[in-house]
Amino acid sequence: MAETAKRTLRLVEISIRRYASVRRPSLRSEGASLTGLLSRRYLVNSSMSHSPESRPHSPGLKSKLRVRFWGVRGSIPTPGARTTRFGGNTSCIEILGSSECVILDAGTGIRSLGAHLAGRARPLRAHILLSHTHWDHIQGFPLFAPIYEEGNEVFVYGPRALDKSLHDAVMFQMQYSYFPVRGVELKAKLVFRELDEEKFSISDIDLETRSMNHPIRVLAYRFARAGKVGVYTGDNEPYYDVLPSRPFRVETGIHRRSEFIQECNDRVTQFVKGCDLLIADSQYTDEEYRTKKGWGHSSTGQALQLALDAGAKRIALFHHEPTHADAEMAAIHRDAVRRARAMNPKLQVLTAREGMTVTV
Ligand SMILES: [Zn+2]
Ligand SMILES: [Zn+2]
Repeated sequence: MAETAKRTLRLVEISIRRYASVRRPSLRSEGASLTGLLSRRYLVNSSMSHSPESRPHSPGLKSKLRVRFWGVRGSIPTPGARTTRFGGNTSCIEILGSSECVILDAGTGIRSLGAHLAGRARPLRAHILLSHTHWDHIQGFPLFAPIYEEGNEVFVYGPRALDKSLHDAVMFQMQYSYFPVRGVELKAKLVFRELDEEKFSISDIDLETRSMNHPIRVLAYRFARAGKVGVYTGDNEPYYDVLPSRPFRVETGIHRRSEFIQECNDRVTQFVKGCDLLIADSQYTDEEYRTKKGWGHSSTGQALQLALDAGAKRIALFHHEPTHADAEMAAIHRDAVRRARAMNPKLQVLTAREGMTVTV
């Protein structure tokens, strides 16, 4: 990890408006060399996280780490009477307890979060941590109200997309072919920062990233504050051998293929190890997964197994399949609770619902 953290970072700063003096993100990265690297482009100044004018983002929650679910659905929004209980907006989670606004993913749930933030003190500093740039994780960004307000600062973090920079993948949707407002018309200051596997901090939240298994690169986030730890997997499917039936097993030169796959899955388990709350992709039922293998998502059973293997205290099932209406979601929840109880009675199972707030 240390070597990874020392890798060159691609930093892209996009200042939509001209600023006489560029303000800096409150970013403290692990490793002297990384800090040195950052300081060439950014003044790494931890005191910025506690600037006098900044107020706790979540008044009354100073000593706690919490998450609030603004969007829990996978793949595509599913509004309508069949999803009113669990919600139809796509991935968006707010991390509460820090002095700044920290958000996991920018699915359509971020629109409501933006409206909610309208009543908060100005100017706003928001940090959006993207697991990846599939549309159900970025589609709400153009409708996140704070990007239209002068004086606000919005920092966007995440992995580079397959053939595009993080900036281009997110801002591509803000052109006239797709949306009536172009990126150049935004009034807030936007800063994009591409992430690798690394450790860093935002305000008093310590963060760590790790690659998951998905058709494009996904970063999971481990976030910690005041001794409590949460993990958000983003979209994730357990690694498996894509050529199991081939008669000739290919050697990688370092490992046998099966050992390498095991090692990849162990890295995921290790990342989740001992967390207080695991927010896990569990899009499919185990039965559905049989026909969706390779699509980059976990089944309920696989998500539960990850929580058990890693010794997580609680799991929140997340990124719900669009076809699962409320009644089916309730049945999935009951089944997951029953199965977890049989595997390890200490593991608590939640099923994420839009509007739900959970103390980590
Ligand atoms: Zn997704
Ligand atoms: Zn995805």
